Amino acid sequence: MARRKTIPSSLDEPPAGLVRLWAPWRRTYVEAAGRLKLKCIFCFGRLSEVSRRERLIVYRGRLASVMLNRYPYNNGHLMVAPRRHVASPELLSPRERAVISELIAEAVTHLRAVYRPDGFNLGANLGRSAGAAGVADHMHWHVTPRWDGDTNYMPVVAGTRVVSELLEESFTRLSPLFKAVQLTIP
Ligand SMILES: [Zn+2]
Repeated sequence: MARRKTIPSSLDEPPAGLVRLWAPWRRTYVEAAGRLKLKCIFCFGRLSEVSRRERLIVYRGRLASVMLNRYPYNNGHLMVAPRRHVASPELLSPRERAVISELIAEAVTHLRAVYRPDGFNLGANLGRSAGAAGVADHMHWHVTPRWDGDTNYMPVVAGTRVVSELLEESFTRLSPLFKAVQLTIP
């Protein structure tokens, strides 16, 4: 199936605990990375509902956003990023840090409710030597659900088409939950 023309998601290597997951659909993206000039996927202005769905943005706030990783390491793999294009957490304002921290907690809450995972990998890669690539200069946190034995799970459903369907479904299930988010930080 021809891949819909969309903006590529993060190329990042996963946080350390994820390296054993096999995600063969990522190879297409990683191979293309050297040839493509990637736009920053975390920088965007006003978006229609259609664009938001195409970009897999489940939450768009004034200071931070949450989106599904188009090349996920596992079902429900989310990324939380500041709206500002900054490369490292010390460049964030205290308020941005607080909002991101809340959104990571929201992501865990909603992923638990929807997917009932056995655990999570939470983390960020700063700099290419730490595994960041593609959009390395716009930092973001990975929130990846894990299941017992999931190193064997994703290859069962491997394939661009299946992953694309999973992403559509994930967006449909998670987006309404994030719409209801009321941050305690204004
Ligand atoms: Zn950016």
